[in-house]
Amino acid sequence: MNRRRRRCKILATLGPASNDEASIEKLWRAGADVFRINMSHADPPAMRETVAMIRAVEERIGRSIGILVDLQGPKLRVGSFGGGGADLVVGQNFTLDSDPAPGDSTRVCLPHPEILLALAPGHNLLIDDGRLRLHVIEAAADRALARVDVGGRISNRKGVSLPDTEIAVAALTAKDRVDVEAAVATGVDWIALSFVQRAADVLEVKKIAGDRALVMAKIEKPQAISRLDEIMLAADALMVARGDLGVEMPLERVPGLQKRITREGRRLGRPVVVATQMLESMITAPAPTRAEVSDVATAVFEGGDAIMLSAESAAGKYPVESVTMMNRIAEEIERDPVYRSIISAQRSAPERTGADAVAVAARDMAQTLDLKAIVAWTSSGATAFRVARERPFAPVLALTPNRDTARRLTAVWGVDAVITKDADDVDDMADRACKFAVRQGLAAPGDRILIIAGVPFGTPGATNMLRLAFIADDGKRAE
Ligand code: PEP
Repeated sequence: MNRRRRRCKILATLGPASNDEASIEKLWRAGADVFRINMSHADPPAMRETVAMIRAVEERIGRSIGILVDLQGPKLRVGSFGGGGADLVVGQNFTLDSDPAPGDSTRVCLPHPEILLALAPGHNLLIDDGRLRLHVIEAAADRALARVDVGGRISNRKGVSLPDTEIAVAALTAKDRVDVEAAVATGVDWIALSFVQRAADVLEVKKIAGDRALVMAKIEKPQAISRLDEIMLAADALMVARGDLGVEMPLERVPGLQKRITREGRRLGRPVVVATQMLESMITAPAPTRAEVSDVATAVFEGGDAIMLSAESAAGKYPVESVTMMNRIAEEIERDPVYRSIISAQRSAPERTGADAVAVAARDMAQTLDLKAIVAWTSSGATAFRVARERPFAPVLALTPNRDTARRLTAVWGVDAVITKDADDVDDMADRACKFAVRQGLAAPGDRILIIAGVPFGTPGATNMLRLAFIADDGKRAE
């Protein structure tokens, strides 16, 4: 599969099940548009190795691939176990301590001294996205004895949430700072920031990244929900990180929050990624549950920019099948007549800018005239973001001289990007738009397309032109 037939993008997390060049290529061919490197399980050398493999695949297939580096953030995790994990049973005692020795069914290291200090009897400990629950019965400076309330398998480096414990956490840990620097120096496209609490957290990463990468704010804490507006404005995109969100907040609030974030993100023109447990059962089974299919469908119906696979593609038995399944669901939902009515009903008023006025007009014209494609000349990608915000049903082809822009747009709803040098003049702009629309399989000679550009060419932020063009018989010229 070369050109995607769906608008909603697919993010696939890489991990032990997929972190090699052949698997990356298979995942891309199955439909993954962006690869996520989770820095909770990687260091800069490992990240660089993965980036090099993705870029090698990109080179081979001749299409832009997005790379998202997801910072660990101040996520608390237990240490490792002798045999990879242990089974905890209800009512047993379990100790968290500062000893780095491998854990067993009686104890494990909690490598965060400040947390051990802050724990007190009665505090709840939620482990592995809340699957296991313990409460502290005795606390000392370097250890906490806890009783298991909900048992299960605990394994290496599982996350720990502390809903009752007051801890002062910085937005970026020392590891995050090292990882951001390494990621932007390696040329990744997106940085995702975990456990965002306020806009200032996002701005801190943006200061380091500059124009080298875009920043995605992961919404997973109640503090972020209460400051959603300022965070959305500060960030370039949002992720509904349902794993931690569903631990830090009552699970039943997550669907409503997902809808709110998806709609607000679209209103502001910030891409939204819906993440975690989308096809969870495919970690071990070749087919998903009906409920999972429905969950993926909901995110697509809502007009989310992207849907994400975590352990399904990183550590599961069926990484390629998971991407294939997501792709099938998204394609089918986007063919459903209800889809268009939902997407159209959620349209919100444009901002009073030239770019938005052109984006609205482009969507209207494409619909009225049933045009085959909207071709947007864009250097920073900003025009394509604003066109995507309008959710036109005609395919959007971004033409950009900027390789980074093409890669970043892989996470944006409905946009396909091709790298080509800036247009020389208005004729060249129209001719090459037609040529690329044909070459990408979007249109054929005799079809009409709509072209958006900013004149003078190459001036960012100058979107000011719409041109309706017929594709000439040779498919190379506008008429
Ligand atoms: C999440 O919590 O949903 C998430 C995407 O973050 P992570 O996988 O880093 O825990």
